[in-house]
Amino acid sequence: GGRLLRIEDLEVTVHKQQGPVSLVRETSFEVREGEIVCLVGESGSGKSVTARTIMGLTQLDDNMEVTGRILLGDEDLVALPADRVRRLRGRDLTMVFQEPLSSLDPVYTVDFQLREALRRRERLGRRAERDRLVSALREVGIHDGDRVLQSYPHQLSGGMCQRVMIAMALLGRPRLLIADEPTTALDVTVQAQILDLIDRLRREEGMAVLLVTHDMGVAADLADRVIVMYAGQVVEDAAPRDIFARPAHPYPAGLLASIPPMIRERPARLPAIPGPVPDPSALPSGCSFHPRCSFATEACLTTRPAAREIDGRQVACWNPLVEEGVA
Ligand code: SF4
Ligand code: MG
Repeated sequence: GGRLLRIEDLEVTVHKQQGPVSLVRETSFEVREGEIVCLVGESGSGKSVTARTIMGLTQLDDNMEVTGRILLGDEDLVALPADRVRRLRGRDLTMVFQEPLSSLDPVYTVDFQLREALRRRERLGRRAERDRLVSALREVGIHDGDRVLQSYPHQLSGGMCQRVMIAMALLGRPRLLIADEPTTALDVTVQAQILDLIDRLRREEGMAVLLVTHDMGVAADLADRVIVMYAGQVVEDAAPRDIFARPAHPYPAGLLASIPPMIRERPARLPAIPGPVPDPSALPSGCSFHPRCSFATEACLTTRPAAREIDGRQVACWNPLVEEGVA
């Protein structure tokens, strides 16, 4: 598919009393039509902030500063007035959050909220609308759709609300779905069903998906590309077969080493990563990963590596584990 979303030099800074804190730095990547791109990393890596910024949500906070470009087609969402971005949300762009209750309105029934979502895309008769909602619920594994439609969010379990929210996001058939850990709270069977549904919509409707996850297994199964973030920066952006078989950056290499081998082909003798994720207000000098990196050299302590292309991927590291032109 063609290019749908392009992020260029994205920087997200929160202005606190103690001074500015950088949450996302020098971030560039793209998502093509019909492509599933997984954004992975530990919590605090900047992946959720990046997702929310693409949706125009970070910008609603006066303490947040966003620079760079977020191109959806030809429109730069960073430069667009807030009301134009709001209009794109829910139509071209929809997001599924980790916390379903934050996006379902407690004062309206599920029926009302799903109809609203559907009407952003098309107008149908009442009966046809009803049928569409019931089938949208069935797609996310809800088989008593009539009961659920009449319910208010607080009458449903958390897992049920999560599924309703996913149904709502997909009803509008967005061009780009941004999903932040959409299935983390759901049981394995429902999770698989929803991931299959997302996969089908990208194949059949060309929907592009930016999937935020800390689950490398999900990324391995679904992704066309995997983008690994660490301390607010993209450290590796590669095809899954490359990143899972031969990670180039020591951070994903360490992350992958902690995953059971049946999920992926594991490179031998890579250490698990000791030490905590750095605090964004006190980032280490040079490469932010250096205190946890067993490959660190002098340059790593002083100079931050920019992303560059190595072996068909983007890698931000002075000492990548994969060399240029070596297969
Ligand atoms: Fe490790 Fe240096 Fe690469 Fe950072 S730049 S990941 S410290 S080798
Ligand atoms: Mg998060």
